[in-house]
Amino acid sequence: MVKTSAGVMATPILLAAGGSVFARDPNNQNSPAKPGNASTTPNQFAMRDPRDQYPHPPFKRQTQEWPGLASKMDPKPDHGENSYQGFGRLVGRKALITGGDSGIGRAAAIAFAREGADVAINYLPVEEPDAKEVVDLIQRAGRKAAALPGDIRDEAFCKKLVNDAAGALGGLDILVNNAAKQTSQKSIEDISTEQFDATFKTNVYAMFWITKAALQHLSTGSAIINTASIQAYEPSANLLDYAQTKACIVAFTKALSKQLMERGIRVNAVAPGPIWTPLQPSGGQPPDKIESFGAATPYGRPGQPAELAPTYVLLASQETSYVTGEVYGITGGNPRP
Ligand code: NAD
Ligand code: MG
Repeated sequence: MVKTSAGVMATPILLAAGGSVFARDPNNQNSPAKPGNASTTPNQFAMRDPRDQYPHPPFKRQTQEWPGLASKMDPKPDHGENSYQGFGRLVGRKALITGGDSGIGRAAAIAFAREGADVAINYLPVEEPDAKEVVDLIQRAGRKAAALPGDIRDEAFCKKLVNDAAGALGGLDILVNNAAKQTSQKSIEDISTEQFDATFKTNVYAMFWITKAALQHLSTGSAIINTASIQAYEPSANLLDYAQTKACIVAFTKALSKQLMERGIRVNAVAPGPIWTPLQPSGGQPPDKIESFGAATPYGRPGQPAELAPTYVLLASQETSYVTGEVYGITGGNPRP
């Protein structure tokens, strides 16, 4: 066990070493679209009114202890489990996704695997139930999955995470810095130094440590994708510390893209609006805001993680060869610069 500077007990090195690697099952194939889930389209291409594609508020009042589980949300988020259809756009690629157990990271993990990539996911040990489902989904797509739990607020763990991922997958050419901490507070006076520190360690320092370590493995043609937020451009009063970290991620993405140009590595970011994930009911929003979550967008509903996955695939794939230093907004109609 290691005590992080945030004062939280974590088991980074031991748990990472205990992280399991699952071999590819040649009998499983790229999962086809399956009917039967009312909240999903048959696949990501089926044409329909995007406003009504997913549930609208009001939602049931719900809270979870941080970091929360996708499986305990009502309605359950759609990560593309029954809908994402791949076409070999990432065949043979090797990806590490932080926060790959749930939400946006899980949607990216499912999509990457169905596009032909082997995928390592990082998450907190208490999120094992969510992570197990993702590992199963990656394997059912016929790809290799590596489950690497541990706390990324610890620099030593971040280095080990990257090396373990590259070791398990036999290399690395896609990095998705996606894990984050978001804690709503009414006033700056309610934000403790511990919270401020944990938010910056998770959202900013870890991205710096993991990216730095990953550069030893990433070769020409590799892609880095960071998850920013609309909060970088339009910060909410109750997300003072979180919004700052998301602005950091935008600046980091743009500056790093210039640095890595000479190595032929692309760096882009995604800036989501409100998305239905455990981040929100586990302290990211006050409980009364969950009932109306997403109502203020022009669509009148939150996005679902599945609606972000195609953009992560696009930015990871060579299809966006001429795209670097960009921030892609996925906001339900609130475009930002
Ligand atoms: P999520 O809760 O499903 O994912 C966040 C993940 O971060 C967790 O699953 C957890 O595994 C990981 N994490 C947090 N602290 C960690 C730590 N110390 N060590 C290791 N892992 C840690 O929620 P999500 O909404 O999918 O979040 C993914 C990204 O999307 C985040 O960067 C978030 O800021 C961003 N985002 C979310 C929204 C939204 O409305 N949900 C909007 C804009 C941006
Ligand atoms: Mg999670």
